[in-house]
Amino acid sequence: MAKRKKEKIRTEFRKNRTGRCRESNLTRRYHANPLEDDEVAQKEAVSGKGALTRKRTVVGDRAEEDLTGLAVHPDVDLSVCKSGTVLSVHGLMSVVETPDGVQFQCTTRRLLKTLATNQRHVVVAGDRVWFRPQAAGDGIIQRIEPRHGILSRTSRGRQHVIVSNIDRLLIITSAAEPALKPHLIDRLIVSAEKGKVEPVICINKVDLIDASDLQPLVGVYGQMGYEILLVSACERTNIDHLRNCLVGFQSVVVGQSGVGKSSLLNAVAPDLQLQIGAVSRDTRKGRHTTTNARLIRWPQGGYVVDTPGVRQFELWDLASNEVVNFFRDVRPLIHGCRYPDCTHTHETDCAVKDAVADGRLDARRYESYCQLFTGD
Ligand code: GDP
Ligand code: ZN
Repeated sequence: MAKRKKEKIRTEFRKNRTGRCRESNLTRRYHANPLEDDEVAQKEAVSGKGALTRKRTVVGDRAEEDLTGLAVHPDVDLSVCKSGTVLSVHGLMSVVETPDGVQFQCTTRRLLKTLATNQRHVVVAGDRVWFRPQAAGDGIIQRIEPRHGILSRTSRGRQHVIVSNIDRLLIITSAAEPALKPHLIDRLIVSAEKGKVEPVICINKVDLIDASDLQPLVGVYGQMGYEILLVSACERTNIDHLRNCLVGFQSVVVGQSGVGKSSLLNAVAPDLQLQIGAVSRDTRKGRHTTTNARLIRWPQGGYVVDTPGVRQFELWDLASNEVVNFFRDVRPLIHGCRYPDCTHTHETDCAVKDAVADGRLDARRYESYCQLFTGD
């Protein structure tokens, strides 16, 4: 963990928790569960001014722009804590694995839940955490390390981070059955770029088509600097190449159902089947398993996150004028537009439209840009 400066920080509390702040059985609950020290401190801080001034001083270090949604990482006594990676989250419970491979069922320290500002879940799969072990394989998560590389979607107007600390988004599509959907690839690339995750495009089932038909598409993405692979799980085409793209990295696999995600993962790591089984056994305890990410370790290092139930990542909080930043092929062109606020949709003297007209920008990519810009 990087050394950071501790300070006393005034921070806002989540307003929708205020209803639960005053409870009459406070003392009894404290004695019953003295480890939930945060709860008492929070209640003491409740002022008479109602929901508008929910502030409190927390000792810790500032967490700015680290994607956790927390303003502060509260200081904790690390000598009584263990570190681990969150494998899966089921409602209020997280399965945390320590570096030596031991799993703990953890709840989350109330202070963290209260500090979480704009996000639906405080702890997500992939998080590096510090937790305080309790009896019999239980624990309480005390601290979440800063995140890099997140994938999120919108859930009832709030950001729902699905998984964190990801290097790569493996976008799986099929050449046929179901038909190739290049616009979906473009949307997922934008999600990846926004979350600071490197997309890898993988077109499966190339045994069903003439692979030369895909060369123009491969050229478009290749020119932008994206890795794009044509594979077949059935015929084991390019499976070694795919494996090299994944092993040693922390990746998430996405794609519509039926494109061959499971077949490809099994082709890449035949022993993965066993590991999927091992993880899903413990997830039966939770009732929320279908929408949650699970983390599957590669025997060779790194891991793949499986996101059952998540077919598409809706774009969280993407402003129209932000879209262009995530189109590597469009972005360099915009300096040539006549109007500084050109949206590249209806304006005259637009360098982006000019580039489409003379073939420097792929017309279909431009169409994807327009769709995302207008929010269709
Ligand atoms: P998932 O829903 O994305 O996990 O897809 P599956 O791995 O379950 O595969 C869906 C269907 O596509 C199955 O019937 C597979 O046999 C078939 N399939 C998977 N990979 C290939 C492939 O490379 N070529 C062909 N022709 N069929 C495939
Ligand atoms: Zn323009």
